[in-house]
Amino acid sequence: MQAHSYGELKLFVDGEWLGAEGRVTEDVINPATGEPIAALPHATAEDLDRAVAAASRAFKAWRVTTAYDRAKIIRKAADILRERTNEIAPRMTMDQGKPIGEAIQEVHISADILDWTADEGRRTYGRVIPSRVSGARWLVTREPVGPVAGFTPWNFPGIIPARKISAALATGCTMVIKPSEETPSTVLEIARALDDAGLPKGVLNVVHGKPSDVSEHLIASDGIRKITFTGSTAVGKQLAVLAAQAGVKRTTMELGGHAPVLIFEDADIDLAIKVMAFAKFRNAGQVCISPTRFYVHDSVHDRFVEGFAKAAAALKVGDGLDPASQMGPLANSRRVPAMERMVADAVQRGAKVKTGGERGSNRGYFFAPTVVSDVPQDALAMNEEPFGPLAVTARFSSFDEVIEQANRLPYGLASYAFTQSARTAAMLGDAIEAGMLGINNNAISMTETPFGGVKQSGYGSEGGSEGMDAYLVTKFISHS
Ligand code: NAD
Repeated sequence: MQAHSYGELKLFVDGEWLGAEGRVTEDVINPATGEPIAALPHATAEDLDRAVAAASRAFKAWRVTTAYDRAKIIRKAADILRERTNEIAPRMTMDQGKPIGEAIQEVHISADILDWTADEGRRTYGRVIPSRVSGARWLVTREPVGPVAGFTPWNFPGIIPARKISAALATGCTMVIKPSEETPSTVLEIARALDDAGLPKGVLNVVHGKPSDVSEHLIASDGIRKITFTGSTAVGKQLAVLAAQAGVKRTTMELGGHAPVLIFEDADIDLAIKVMAFAKFRNAGQVCISPTRFYVHDSVHDRFVEGFAKAAAALKVGDGLDPASQMGPLANSRRVPAMERMVADAVQRGAKVKTGGERGSNRGYFFAPTVVSDVPQDALAMNEEPFGPLAVTARFSSFDEVIEQANRLPYGLASYAFTQSARTAAMLGDAIEAGMLGINNNAISMTETPFGGVKQSGYGSEGGSEGMDAYLVTKFISHS
């Protein structure tokens, strides 16, 4: 396994890279070893104020920079990111844990998001409405909302910030972003690529610190006009309240999910096993659209579960820097006891562990790919998002029954189904309460497609042309 250096971590404020210099620092841990790999400087209150002031000042010029010129800078940054993949990806693996192949892919996807969204900024069209007043011209224009505060989590440290940064910058907004303190390296590389591509000072600022302190400070700041958050529903609710109190500030909330997978009696079971074994254990299941509640038709349940458990058991788990590893550790120490608690609870209620169910080794935060079958509806894992490598299965026998189960929770982010019936697929499209539905595939999160949830999974889309709406306000001009 090749040794890699992690490097120094900084703040990026008003075009300046700021190191620890007298600031409080926090250890960043490699989840594969449990060892610290770097010290992350926390922003002081003055740093945060400076970042907001820079974003406010830069907004004046950036909003009137043409969409064409904004796109050129963002696309150049995408190229720089791609060129630096071999530098960025190992660092992502070192702080987040995911296998190096997944990290490389994430850098490429992040670059693709920057590219596509930069150009979509050139298509934020308005409308001309036929006026009912003679001689008047009625125009609808779309303008950037203003400086944005962004908060991103630790599971996709490239893709999630890339979505927020690209849509904000392409529409003419500026941003202060706080990545997860646990996985800060990738967002700093995105900022470095933009800086090197010629982004004017202050358009993007990156700050770190205790999450609640930073978010309270930024959301309350007068200069901030919009909040975008990806993370848990509990934190999303807190931030939405703060945003309302601070001045009815606009928010986009990408929150938790608990994705159901409906496997019907006419499904291609081999396809379902192949697609779901990849989707479930990618990033060790720490994915808000991770397939989790497997409702399998009674007639095919045992065949699916045996094959799925076999595929899970065959995965090689290890340090993500080892190219042979197919699943890395969990990203932080909190996830391991969370998995243990959910498995123990399910077993205590009569469920059967088909594979896994245990932590990996004493070093690092490993947990085996786990499949638990015949899990009752009241089990913890059937109700709370595991956010880890845990799949739970239950049986069903009718369409109405499985729809009721699938829609039972207060979440509605991703959903999946396997059926060869066009009629069942069409009925599912109408009946499922979720922001995304993958039928016979897991391709529900692409650069050009809208990504977002319903119910307590949040509101507002990211990605696709819908993703631009979050950063735009509408103005109507009636001109005689
Ligand atoms: P958490 O809810 O404390 O943190 C989730 C993320 O939100 C972290 O990145 C954290 O830095 C950030 N955060 C926390 N409090 C914040 C605040 N007051 N202001 C701004 N940001 C804040 O919990 P956790 O232990 O890191 O993760 C637990 C659960 O969060 C998971 O089980 C999962 O349900 C959810 N989660 C969801 C996503 C997602 O992509 N939707 C990502 C990470 C975690």
